[in-house]
Amino acid sequence: MDSPKRIAIIGGGIAGLSAGIYAQRHGFRTTIYEKNTLPGGACMGWMNGQLPIEGNMSFLVGAGEDTALYRCWNEVGALENTMFVHPDSLFTLEDSGEVVEFSQDLEQFCRNAEKISPEDRTLLHRFCEAVLKAEEYELPVSQPEDLAGPLKSRHFNSANGEIKKMLTRLRSVSLSDFAEQFHHPALRCAFLNVLPQGSTLAALVLFYGKFISGDLAVPVGGSRKLTERMVSFYQTSGGELRLNTPVKEIIVANGAARGVVLENGERLLTHWVIAACDPEYTHRVLLQDRYTLEKKLQVRYENPEIYPTFSRVRLFFSAPVDCVPLARVFSFPTDDIPAAGDGISRLTVTQYSDDPSFVKNGRTELVAEIPMTGKRAFRYWAELAVQQDVYEEAIDRLAGAVQFALEKRFPRMKGQLQFLTCHTPVTYAERLHVYHGSCTAFVPTSHARLTQLTGRIPGLKKFLLTGQWLGNTAGMHTALVQGKFTAERLCHDEQIQW
Ligand SMILES: Cc1cc2nc3c(=O)[nH]c(=O)nc-3n(C[C@H](O)[C@H](O)[C@H](O)COP(=O)(O)OP(=O)(O)OC[C@H]3O[C@@H](n4cnc5c(N)ncnc54)[C@H](O)[C@@H]3O)c2cc1C
Repeated sequence: MDSPKRIAIIGGGIAGLSAGIYAQRHGFRTTIYEKNTLPGGACMGWMNGQLPIEGNMSFLVGAGEDTALYRCWNEVGALENTMFVHPDSLFTLEDSGEVVEFSQDLEQFCRNAEKISPEDRTLLHRFCEAVLKAEEYELPVSQPEDLAGPLKSRHFNSANGEIKKMLTRLRSVSLSDFAEQFHHPALRCAFLNVLPQGSTLAALVLFYGKFISGDLAVPVGGSRKLTERMVSFYQTSGGELRLNTPVKEIIVANGAARGVVLENGERLLTHWVIAACDPEYTHRVLLQDRYTLEKKLQVRYENPEIYPTFSRVRLFFSAPVDCVPLARVFSFPTDDIPAAGDGISRLTVTQYSDDPSFVKNGRTELVAEIPMTGKRAFRYWAELAVQQDVYEEAIDRLAGAVQFALEKRFPRMKGQLQFLTCHTPVTYAERLHVYHGSCTAFVPTSHARLTQLTGRIPGLKKFLLTGQWLGNTAGMHTALVQGKFTAERLCHDEQIQW
């Protein structure tokens, strides 16, 4: 019998782990090289003393037990009898003296919003009808389009039929244009702030539809536990994970990837290389600019007005449970934050007390965040970071201002908050090597064309890119599915039955 083919996977985020697990299952021998001391990539959680801290996840797509995505999470061991927290609302916003709540109960959302603004009744009803329809939309996870024949693609399209048509139509409407149609400023503000700037109405309709159906929820234990389960599943299936092991270069010979060189100088020869990290970084640094990315991916990087990136400054606090807002994600206006790259007129706070494992000694994590478009925010913080003391001073000033704003809005917090740490776009860029310190991959605007990428680099064999950047939306579920698709391409090229 032939010995198994060896694969080097660069990056131990969700996509790298997913690709590794599926490749192991199909007879490959994989090693994941992860530069950080903890796996999980952007999906990170850690402990602060006894208190678990969620580094990113607000919601996970794929919690609905009857969905293909849920089965996919289970195939990689990510859920394993995990319970889910289903918060009462997706996003709650305070503005102009009103509270708009995108609640789990769609009728309640509609009734409350109508009460705020009877004039907006028709628009609200149209929105809610679309959300109800989107509830049943299944995200494609079965096979990448480049491998599916025309028949299978047609089958998928017709399976989602009418919903897909509706979403295609709503994809041409920007959320900001839709928000502008509301008469009431609070509704305008809510629709403008619920998703990253540049998002489309389709994205909100789909996201909210998934939330009311229960498919968007939070696994107990958060992203740290989810990653731990995937790592253990990967290792049990024979995969090797090397932490604290940055890759410096991809070895290329005769038009094919042949292995990797580690930062410590080790050269490792393999049959395949999978880069499960940022494509722009892979191309520029690991492949030293010797190749060009596939055209459709290049188009995304070259047109930031159509495919913007999005980042956040996040300030982490520990707070007593009895003084945090009731809603999981809550946004309120403030004029107490100094400009940091953008004028800031509101803060969004996320609290985790609805997951009991995130409550220790009556305290929980509270994150205040300032959303920003990727490039501008990155430049602002990268310029500050040239001098460490200047960067740290800016963070201290911002943390002080945010704490002041929180205490002003929630007087019970006075003297109760403990500032833990701050993540800026520079943190994400340094920690993950992500383009412009983005939190998520491209945000497709109403002018974007949704296309399937293949992760292949023209002229380079035995190499595949994977990860959130290949999807049409970002997120952990996209990283999971792209990892699976990459393993399918591998099997296809090696003529191994999937
Ligand atoms: C603040 C924040 C909030 C988010 N909220 C949500 C949410 O609520 N729900 C959701 O679904 N998604 C959310 N996301 C997005 C989600 O976390 C990402 O889409 C997903 O985790 C990306 O996974 P990935 O494997 O594609 O990439 P990454 O997680 O970026 O993984 C790439 C890995 O490669 C490693 N790497 C890079 N260079 C090298 C090298 N040279 N050698 C070795 N290793 C290397 C990195 O360290 C990293 O571990 C959020 C992200 C952030 C940052």
